[in-house]
Amino acid sequence: MNPYDSPTYNMACEQFEQAANFLDLPEEIRKRIKSPKRALIVNIPVRHDDGSVRNYHGCRVQHHLAFGPTKGGIRYHPDATLGEVAALAMWMSWKCALVGLPYGGAKGGVACDPKKLSKGELERLTRRYTQELIPIIGPYIDIPAPDMGTDAQVMAWIMDTYSVHMGYSTPGVVTGKPIEIGGSLGRTEATGRGVGYLINRAFDLLKIDAAKATAVVQGFGNVGEHAAFALALHGTKIIAVSDSSGAVYNKAGLHLDDLVIHKADHGTVAGFKGADAIKPEEIVALPCDVLVPAALEREITEKNAARLKCRVLAEGANGPTTPEADRILANSDVFVLPDILCNSGGVVVSYFEWVQDLQNFFWSEAEVNDKLYRILEKAFVHVTQFAKTSQVPMRTAAMALGVSKVAKAAAQRGLFP
Ligand code: NAD
Repeated sequence: MNPYDSPTYNMACEQFEQAANFLDLPEEIRKRIKSPKRALIVNIPVRHDDGSVRNYHGCRVQHHLAFGPTKGGIRYHPDATLGEVAALAMWMSWKCALVGLPYGGAKGGVACDPKKLSKGELERLTRRYTQELIPIIGPYIDIPAPDMGTDAQVMAWIMDTYSVHMGYSTPGVVTGKPIEIGGSLGRTEATGRGVGYLINRAFDLLKIDAAKATAVVQGFGNVGEHAAFALALHGTKIIAVSDSSGAVYNKAGLHLDDLVIHKADHGTVAGFKGADAIKPEEIVALPCDVLVPAALEREITEKNAARLKCRVLAEGANGPTTPEADRILANSDVFVLPDILCNSGGVVVSYFEWVQDLQNFFWSEAEVNDKLYRILEKAFVHVTQFAKTSQVPMRTAAMALGVSKVAKAAAQRGLFP
């Protein structure tokens, strides 16, 4: 029995096997580093505002412990399952290894719709979930962060619950916190900023002028919004965006500040006056220079991959492209910035936040961004050069670089007992 069996987990395994085949990894090491090290499934009873008690299912998966503590976000989404969370934990492992962070991958999830919970209900759910996770989280064990449906406020409740339990403030237990309680400047924007930086490096390579380029963003949340702003800084026009409630398009470019105000007022980009409504599924087929999927997994599939009309596919989301779609894209001129490279800016600045918390010495935003761009530049050069010299797709190159580091570390540490 495989407890993680699910389309997303099986997809992550297929990507892993492709990299392992390319690296010619021995079966013994393959098996050792593929399966998650541990998973905790929890039942979270929450008292709702009307007095009723409802139970939510949550989990935390830690993928490998070869480098040090594990690290990864917490997702609140109605469809969050153990299998999906395990896949996300696995991708975190290859991502951290690729960019050289001393972490294994982890991920957590609670099956709930945070938009339908009051602030009090969300806080009680978060605190109870944290309490259930206490045996397996901590600054030297496993450090959560935000993901879909969670934000700095949720991280603050996690830090507070853990700190109350320990009897002293422990900011290093979680990253993506508010600045006032040990958060890092630049963390909220980091994933999107990193996506923007790497897209501009891809534009350089493909000789695309950023000031004349157009972008489409699927999922205008934390990652999508900040990626859009990072691109706009270089003059790139954002012509369409979507979220779970709708999609909007304006060939002349969307006014981002007005769009953000509209989203804050209405909770969605749908209905934005400065654009036309389009069908959300059409967004990926719009002609543009860069398409940024920044929502859920498995959005680019064998059904729509051939319809992509972008030059660059920049994976802000984790796992947005299925292996079947990858095979179609391999025969096209679409340049793929694979997820474990493209959205790695988030975990890089989470690492900076953890380092700052442990040393109680905080950096300016300029220092954070400078260090972030250096790491991303190095990873971009590694992956593009590896893809070129080995004649493999960018995803295989990124995965091979990440997986090989974990495989080496596991082999060097040997087997206990
Ligand atoms: P978020 O909750 O802030 O935003 C997600 C957005 O996607 C929301 O606007 C939501 O309405 C939209 N969405 C949901 N379903 C959709 C659909 N079917 N079509 C279009 N839009 C849809 O989440 P986020 O933190 O921005 O995360 C987005 C993706 O980026 C996830 O795959 C996440 O794992 C990945 N990621 C996040 C971070 C981070 O630092 N937050 C880091 C790395 C990767």
